[in-house]
Amino acid sequence: MRPFEYRQAADRSEALSIAATESARYLGGGTNLVDLMRQNIEAPAALVDVSRLPGTIEDTPNGGLLIGAAVRNSVVAAHPAVRTRYPMLSRALLAGASAQIRNMATVGGNILQRTRCAYFYDAAGSRCNKRSPGTGCDAIGGFNRYHAIFGASEHCIATHPSDMCVALAALDATIHLAGPDGERSVPLLDFHRLPGDRPEIETIARPGELITAVELAASPAAANSRYRKVRDRSSYAFALVSVAAGLEVVDGKIQDVRIALGGVAPKPWRAAQAEQLLRGQAPTRELFLAAADAELAAAKSFDGNVFKIELAKRTIAAMLGELTGVDA
Ligand code: SF4
Repeated sequence: MRPFEYRQAADRSEALSIAATESARYLGGGTNLVDLMRQNIEAPAALVDVSRLPGTIEDTPNGGLLIGAAVRNSVVAAHPAVRTRYPMLSRALLAGASAQIRNMATVGGNILQRTRCAYFYDAAGSRCNKRSPGTGCDAIGGFNRYHAIFGASEHCIATHPSDMCVALAALDATIHLAGPDGERSVPLLDFHRLPGDRPEIETIARPGELITAVELAASPAAANSRYRKVRDRSSYAFALVSVAAGLEVVDGKIQDVRIALGGVAPKPWRAAQAEQLLRGQAPTRELFLAAADAELAAAKSFDGNVFKIELAKRTIAAMLGELTGVDA
C-alpha cells in the first residue's frame, strides 16, 4: 500500500474543500476501497473520512424516504420504514456480504463499490482494461462465470457487485450529490456507466463530488416487493443472478411493476422489456415466462456464463409468482 494522508471531515463543507484541493477519495466504511488500496489498484494521495458525517433516515413530505449516504447498510436493512415500505431493499441489503461488513459499509460506499472481477484484482498477473486502460481483458476468453450478459463491451465484461443497487434501480431511486459546483440529483439508473471503450470510468460522478443521500418515492409496488439472489453458496458470495421485483395488481390486472436484475451487467439492470409486457395484463404463469423471455432475448453470454440466461428467466418468473401467488 502506498502512503496516503488520512483526514476526518468535521462536516460536509470541510469534506468538499479537502477533496477539491487534493487527489483524494472519500472513505465510508472502507470495505472495498481499503482492499483496493492494499493491492495498489487504487492509490489516492488522501482519504477524506466521511463515515462520521450525520446520517439519518427520514420521511419525505411526499411519503417517501431519504436515506443519508453515511448510514450503515445494516441500519438501513433493519429500519422499520424500509422493511415495511421497501422490503426488496431490506432483503437486498441482508443478501449482501456478511453481517460484519454490513455493519461497516455505508450507503454511499455501497453505490461506489467496484467490480469483483478476479482479473481486476490480479494486478501482478492479469490484463485488465478497467485497472490499466488499453492492456486488454483476460476475462474475455478466460474465467467468466460471474460476468455480464447485458451491457458489456469488447473492452470489459465485468458485473456490478452491489445487491442494494439492484433494489434501488427497481425503486427508481434518486441519488443526491454535492460537489465543487453545487448540489444536483440524478436517477440511480443513470449514475453507473456502461463500459464502452472507457471501462475505467464507472459513474457519472464529477471530480470531488460526494454522494449525500438516496431518495425513494412511495408506491404500492415498492411495498409489495422482494429480492432474490442466486449464488454459489448461501452467504458471503456475489450474485450469479439476482432479481428485485415489486408489483401492484388492481382489479385483476398488473397496474405497476418494477424489475431489476443483478449479477448480469456492469450496472444494475432494469428489466424494461419484461415490465412493458406485464403492465395491464392479468398475472399468469404463461405471461411471466413470456416476460422473462422478452427480457433475456437481447442477452449475450460468454463461454462460462451461458447458464445465466436460463437462470435469469426462471428467477424472474419465480419472483413474479411469489409476488402474485401464481404458481410459476
Ligand atoms: Fe478487467 Fe473488465 Fe476484463 Fe474484468 S472484465 S478483466 S474488470 S476489463
